[in-house]
Amino acid sequence: MQTVKRKRDRLLEENLCDHCLGRQFAKLGHGLENWERGAIARRIEDLDEDSFIRDNIPETAEEGGECGICNGVFEKLEHWTDLVVNSFRRYELDTFLIGIRPPPEAVDAEDELWEEYGIEWVEPLKTELSRLIGKRVHDRTGLEVDFKRPDINAVIEMDENKDRVELQVNSMLIYGQYNKYSRELPQTVWHCRNCRGGGCDECDFTGKNYHTSIQEEIQEPFKRETKSIEAKFHGGGREDVDARCFGRREFLLELVEPLNRDLDLEQLQEEVNESDMIEVYNIRYGEKDEVEEVKNKHADKMYRADVELSEEVEKDDLEVLEKLKGVVEQRTPQRVEHRRADKVRKREVHRVYWEKKDEGLELVIKAEAGTYIKELISGDDGRAEPSVSGLLGVEAVCTALDVVDIEK
Ligand SMILES: [Zn+2]
Ligand SMILES: [Zn+2]
Repeated sequence: MQTVKRKRDRLLEENLCDHCLGRQFAKLGHGLENWERGAIARRIEDLDEDSFIRDNIPETAEEGGECGICNGVFEKLEHWTDLVVNSFRRYELDTFLIGIRPPPEAVDAEDELWEEYGIEWVEPLKTELSRLIGKRVHDRTGLEVDFKRPDINAVIEMDENKDRVELQVNSMLIYGQYNKYSRELPQTVWHCRNCRGGGCDECDFTGKNYHTSIQEEIQEPFKRETKSIEAKFHGGGREDVDARCFGRREFLLELVEPLNRDLDLEQLQEEVNESDMIEVYNIRYGEKDEVEEVKNKHADKMYRADVELSEEVEKDDLEVLEKLKGVVEQRTPQRVEHRRADKVRKREVHRVYWEKKDEGLELVIKAEAGTYIKELISGDDGRAEPSVSGLLGVEAVCTALDVVDIEK
């Protein structure tokens, strides 16, 4: 069995600096740097697992030295720290992580060393470099290291021919809720089907079917302030272009590669709310896992609909609308057939209220997420069952639809 002493004795025959010698024992002892472990390993003759303590560090210990493994990378820590700190200058950030691509020769040399002497107690070169440079960057900037989701991931390319830092800037999320007051507003950018966004006669060379959208109304001030290259909109479900929403629908706005992260959210919310088509509420910074959470919520919704009937129906005959409650079967509506799979969906209608109006009816319906309300009214040529039209035996058309409440 390999003992600490035996491994050390054999390693001393290699030409190693204290960093690289100590790194072969990195799992032993606490609160030590690897070069201190290396100095201990050279000094203590009867080395064992308990030898790696502060008291055993020789006074003469110092970093650096000749080495056949690391290519002198430990002498350039300040240089790479400079590169990282300078590359951060353009950005506002709170957290970072250092990634390392060590010189290829060092990786090969380390592999050979492990093969020869085993991987017990070792730490990879790049882990040590990442920690040492991360600590220096923290000391110089006050920024915190975040292993899970840093604002910026700085990858240092240590190959002599490259010698550079590559930044991977994580996107930034803004959470909010919106109401929509227009019946001519899609949720997201809707590119012209004719030119696919290139611009043509049909779309007045805008590339879009609608000149704006909820997404654009919300994202513009955020993109401007963060100087992001792009924004993505994640809504907690969606409503039709011609449906209004008063239920405060949740959304996350994802800002891609922002330069600035320190925003005056209250002021931005006010700016968005200058629009008379939408209003936003409860704007705050969002978390990464909220995107899926909001998208998958499957929240019950309450709708209000104006319904036009082909013939007048007696008030008493409307009682049959009670039968809308319960499980409804809805085959993919003809109007969305071209973009959604053709299948029958089962959804639950929880509540139905009606009121007779001159032109027809006003309905209030509480239903499970994903229920097609327009088809629940029209029957969609028999594809939706039951329906207002089917139950009353007359044609029924939804002429206006509002989402009035969304369960939170
Ligand atoms: Zn070394
Ligand atoms: Zn076009």
